[in-house]
Amino acid sequence: MKMNVLKWEEEFSNKIEELEVPHNWDLHVDMDLVKQKTGLIYTQQTFGSFRCSRCKRSWNSSKVSVLFIINLNKHLRHGTVKMRIFKQGCERCSSPEEMTPTVTSDNIERVVCNLVHKIQRKFYEVNDQYQDQKPKIYGPLEGLHNKERCEACRHGLCEQQVLSCTYEQNREQREPAASAALSVMGVISGVASIALLYFANK
Ligand SMILES: [Zn+2]
Ligand SMILES: [Zn+2]
Repeated sequence: MKMNVLKWEEEFSNKIEELEVPHNWDLHVDMDLVKQKTGLIYTQQTFGSFRCSRCKRSWNSSKVSVLFIINLNKHLRHGTVKMRIFKQGCERCSSPEEMTPTVTSDNIERVVCNLVHKIQRKFYEVNDQYQDQKPKIYGPLEGLHNKERCEACRHGLCEQQVLSCTYEQNREQREPAASAALSVMGVISGVASIALLYFANK
C-alpha cells in the first residue's frame, strides 16, 4: 500500500492556516529520514493497518511510529517539517517486505493537529490547554508488538515514544487536576490506564 503523501501535506497546511501559525510552513515526507543534529525531534504513535505483499495477511497496529524533524528559519520566515512513517513486516513470512501502513484520514488529522500544537508551543510560546489527541482504534489488535519486524523499534523510536508521551501527559494533566470529581476520575482513569496498558503491548 502506498502512503497518502498528499493527504498529510494538505492536512498540515490546513491546520497551519486554521491555527494562524506565523511564518510559512511546509511538510515533506521522507521515507529515509533519520535523526539529525539540527531541528526539533518529535515522535508520535498512531493506529494503522498493514497488508503483507507476500501472503496477503492483514494486521493492525497501534504502534505505528511517525518521526518529525522540525526547523524554523526566522530570517527567511520559513518553517520546515520532515516526516517519516515507519514500516512493519509480516510476522508469518520469513524475510518479508516491510510495508507502509494505511492510516485513516481522521488519524492523520489527529497526528497533524498534535504536531501543529507542538510547533505553536515550541516556536511561538503559545500556551494553550491543548491535550494531545489519541489515535482512533479501528479493528482488533492481536498479539504482542513484534519488535523485530518493526522499523521504528530498530531505530530505537518505539520505546522512546512511550516514555516521552507518558511524561507529557502526566505533566499536562496535573495542572487542571484540582477537581471535585477526583474520586470518580480515579476510577475512570484506572480503567483507561488498564486499557492503555493493553494497547501499549500491541
Ligand atoms: Zn506475510
Ligand atoms: Zn516498534
